[in-house]
Amino acid sequence: MPIPELTIRQRLAELLTGTVRSSRQLAELVGVPERQVEDHLGHLIKSLARDRARRFVMEPPVCQDCSFVFRERRRLTKPSRCPRCRSEAVSPPRFGIIPLCSISGSDNSATDARSLDRRS
Ligand SMILES: [Zn+2]
Repeated sequence: MPIPELTIRQRLAELLTGTVRSSRQLAELVGVPERQVEDHLGHLIKSLARDRARRFVMEPPVCQDCSFVFRERRRLTKPSRCPRCRSEAVSPPRFGIIPLCSISGSDNSATDARSLDRRS
């Protein structure tokens, strides 16, 4: 029996919370094709746009030869080649969900603020 769509999406959301992963990593963890993971991520992004407790983040793809960062890219798939040096060694985009929970998150943000103060 196939896994219900909604369950896959919930699994993906769980796997992304507090960390970042590529769609290939997610495909291996959930056991569905990478294409399908990208489909689900598209839906997740839409539903999390209205979610005040969590935020979806995307680390852009990076060229491993010239360090070009695909900042403007909105698509979830890996670019096939670098527009600057034409290399095909491009790292895939990575995705994550940041919980914006005030209860468990307050300690961490306080630590971050302190370490930033020390640096400046
Ligand atoms: Zn490049």
